[in-house]
Amino acid sequence: MSNYRVFLKPKKEESLLRFHPWVFSGAIQKIEGEPEEGDLVNVYGANGSFLAVGHYQIGSIAVRILSFKQINIDKDFWEERIRIAYELRRTLKLTGGDNNNTYRLIHGEGDSLPGLIVDVYANTAVIQAHSVGMHHSRNQVADAIHSIITEIDNIYYKSDATLPFKANLNNEDGYLYGGTNIETALEYGLKFNVDWVKGQKTGFFVDQRENRSLLEFYATGRSVLNMFCYTGGFSFYAMRGNAKLVHSVDSSAKAISQTKQNIELNFPEDTRHEAYAEDAFKYLDKMGENYDLIILDPPAFAKHRNVLRNALQGYRKLNAIAFEKIKPGGILFTFSCSQVVSKENFRLAVFSAAAQSGRNVRILHQLTQPADHPVNIYHPEGEYLKGLVLFVE
Ligand code: SAH
Repeated sequence: MSNYRVFLKPKKEESLLRFHPWVFSGAIQKIEGEPEEGDLVNVYGANGSFLAVGHYQIGSIAVRILSFKQINIDKDFWEERIRIAYELRRTLKLTGGDNNNTYRLIHGEGDSLPGLIVDVYANTAVIQAHSVGMHHSRNQVADAIHSIITEIDNIYYKSDATLPFKANLNNEDGYLYGGTNIETALEYGLKFNVDWVKGQKTGFFVDQRENRSLLEFYATGRSVLNMFCYTGGFSFYAMRGNAKLVHSVDSSAKAISQTKQNIELNFPEDTRHEAYAEDAFKYLDKMGENYDLIILDPPAFAKHRNVLRNALQGYRKLNAIAFEKIKPGGILFTFSCSQVVSKENFRLAVFSAAAQSGRNVRILHQLTQPADHPVNIYHPEGEYLKGLVLFVE
């Protein structure tokens, strides 16, 4: 039990009564004790009634809620949360199989563990903390994963890029368990060597699995451009879907070299694939009009609300070139993973790009994140991935 008590201002308990998992600093009346960032605190209403327990933070979000019950945050707590999350992924048939063993085990608020991400690649779990509280809890999280998921031998902690910079934690990424016997990850029957040590995020973009699978369906006989390919995710599905040719482009030379290695692993000596380390706009400007399936999966153009306008312009410009150059009868898969860009804003940016090109465009599919990245209904902000599949006449 925590000794620190956070009391809210009158009427500020309402969002917690609706199970929203954050307390904003402006809602706090007073704090009893002097919690440090990452400590557990109990939160009370102005009338003194218990509301929730969570991790204390310095910043506009002051507490991230772990439970709305007055419980101890102990071994049993972590094991219960991990078990529930794992059972869901088992229900989704994503775990430990010989067709798929790549999935997100913990998706922050979506799994009632704000600030924590865990991705699983075959027998390796990669933990990523976004808060000091989760950083302090990393060993308990790892122990719970290790005791519940028997097929996991390695647990890597990777939080250098995601922990609050000002907290000065001197974190060093590394293995909390294992680290020697690493198996190749499988996503819907395709093999991937994932580099969590040097790669982006936890090493792979697990969130595009279902959308990549949909792309496979459309790839038959098409000339595919996979722009912002990272380690090639969409390209593999296009290859397996019998695309005529597949070109993968990313500005990161390291990502392109991994793309080539992973292609070789799945489609040895297949000459349909080429990969280029180049800037997206440079490539798009000079490319011809030969592609009839284009994927645009850029990095988050807006990480903060105050750059939203520029981000929307970026999406519009990017999509405008694709609309101009895609072959008649072409299909465009276009995405935004910026949390601050709403579905409506993204559609508006893409639709104005389409209008600018003067082409007839219709929506075939409206895409989002997969079920192992669940959205907590009390935290709708958790819905971040938006995609459209468009037919261009
Ligand atoms: N579609 C990928 C994930 C894309 S992540 C998948 O399914 O795995 C976004 C990628 O965009 C990153 O790999 C990053 O290196 C790349 N990127 C960022 N800026 C870029 C630019 N200006 N031109 C080309 N690629 C860029």
